[in-house]
Amino acid sequence: KQKDPNQDEFHQAVYVIFKSIKPVLIKNPHYIKHNILERIVEPERLITFRVPWIDDQGNIQVNRGYRVQFNSAIGPYKGGLRFHPSVNTSIIKFLGFEQIFKNALTGQPIGGGKGGADFDPKGKSDNEIMRFCQSYMTELANHIGPDTDVPAGDIGVGAREIGYLFGQYKRMRKSFEAGVLTGKGLLYGGSLARKEATGYGAIYFVKEMLNNQGQTFAGKKVVISGSGNVSIYAMEKAIELGATVIACSDSNGYIYDDSGLNVQTVKQLKEVERRRISEYALIHPSATFVEGSSGIWSIPCDIALPCATQNELDKQAAQKLVDNGVKIVAEGANMPSTADAIAIFQDHKVQFGPAKAVNAGGVAVSALEMGQNSSRMSWSFEEVDQKLQQIMKDIYQNSINAAEAYRKKGNLISGASIAGFTKVADAMIEQGVI
Ligand code: NDP
Repeated sequence: KQKDPNQDEFHQAVYVIFKSIKPVLIKNPHYIKHNILERIVEPERLITFRVPWIDDQGNIQVNRGYRVQFNSAIGPYKGGLRFHPSVNTSIIKFLGFEQIFKNALTGQPIGGGKGGADFDPKGKSDNEIMRFCQSYMTELANHIGPDTDVPAGDIGVGAREIGYLFGQYKRMRKSFEAGVLTGKGLLYGGSLARKEATGYGAIYFVKEMLNNQGQTFAGKKVVISGSGNVSIYAMEKAIELGATVIACSDSNGYIYDDSGLNVQTVKQLKEVERRRISEYALIHPSATFVEGSSGIWSIPCDIALPCATQNELDKQAAQKLVDNGVKIVAEGANMPSTADAIAIFQDHKVQFGPAKAVNAGGVAVSALEMGQNSSRMSWSFEEVDQKLQQIMKDIYQNSINAAEAYRKKGNLISGASIAGFTKVADAMIEQGVI
C-alpha cells in the first residue's frame, strides 16, 4: 500500500487471495523462503501509453492505454482488454492479478495479463471505434504476439473491436498470426462457442454447486446483473436448464418480470442494436424498468449472479439477498462482491462461487482458440462446449479438493485461490529467481 497508494481495487484483490492462502503458507514455509508473496504482487511489466485518435468532428482526442504483463510462470500472458472510462492502473492491476490464478485453474498453459484504455465506447460511431482501435493497436503491437501475450475482449471490447484490432496488427506485421488475439470472428480464426463461453461456463459451474446439494436449475429463480456478453449467455444457458431468469440490468437500471425474461429480446437490444435495457419494458409490458442498477439485489431469488462489474454488490445488497433467502451467489463478473458482502454470505452459509473459478470458462475457451489456431484446425460447437463443460467440472472439483486439503471444506473461495496459487508459485520456484 505504501508503494502503490490509491490502488484500492488492486489491494482488495490481493487481500482476498492472501487471506485464502494463509493455511498454505503455514503448512509450506518454503513459499515464504522463496519470497513468493512479494514477487507475485509485482507485475513482470506494466505498460502505459498514449492513444491519440480523431473523432468524427475532426478533433484530436487522447486516451491512456494500458497493458499489464503480470505473470508468465505457466505460459504466455493472457487476459482481456477493457475499454471503459473508469479504467486506471488499479483496475488493470486487480484484473491482471486475478487473471494469474484464474488461468492456472483452467488447466491450460496460460499466464496472467490484462489491458485496456480509459476510452468510453458509448455513443461513439463505428468509424470512431475503428480509429481508436487502430491507434491503440499501433502501440500494443510492440508488446504482444502469439507466444508472448495474447489479449482478448472484456467490458467494451467485443467481436467488433477485436476485428479492428486484429486488422491493424496484421497490417503492421505483414503476417497472418491468428493466435495473437482471441475472441476473433469465425471468418478469420475465431473459435465456435467462445462468445458463449464465460456465461455458459458460469452456469456449468453453478450446476456443479447445485448438484453437490442434490439439486438442479429446474424451477429456480435467478437474478443476473448486467446485460453484456457474460450476462446474456448466462441467461441463455440458465433458461435452457429450466431456470426462470427474472431480472437483469445495465448501468442505468434493471428490468424485472417475475414470469421470466425473454433472452432473445435482451440479445437483440444489447448485442445487435446497442440500446438501453429500459427499452425492454416497452417491448414486453409484463416487465418493469427501475432506475438505478443496485436495486436489482432487492429482488427475492434462489440464485444471484453478479455479471456486470467490480464492487457492484455491497454489504447492504448482500444482507438484502440473505434476508430474501438466496441460496447461491456466483460471480460472473470480476470481483463484483465487496469483501464485506462476501463476509455476510459466508456468515449465513450461502454457497459462494468466486469469480476466478466461476468465470474462467471464457479464458479457457480462449486457450482452446489458441490451440485451434496453432494446429490450423477448427472444432465444432459441440466439441468446444463439451471441453468447456469438462473444464468447469474440473475447476469445481479441484477447488473443492484444495479446500478440503487445507481444512476449509466446501469453501470455494479458499479452494480456488489455493489451487491457483500453488500451481503458479511452484512454477515460479522451479524457474529460479526471475
Ligand atoms: P460487456 O461490456 O459485454 O457488458 C457489461 C455489462 O454490464 C453491460 O450491460 C453494462 O451496461 C453493465 N454494467 C456496467 N456497469 C454496471 C453497473 N454498475 N451496474 C449494472 N450493470 C452495469 O462486458 P462483459 O459481459 O464482457 O463483462 C462483464 C464482467 O465479466 C466484467 O467484470 C468482466 O471483467 C467479466 N468477465 C468477462 C469475460 C468475457 O469473456 N467477456 C471473461 C471473464 C470475466 P452498460 O451497457 O450500461 O454499460
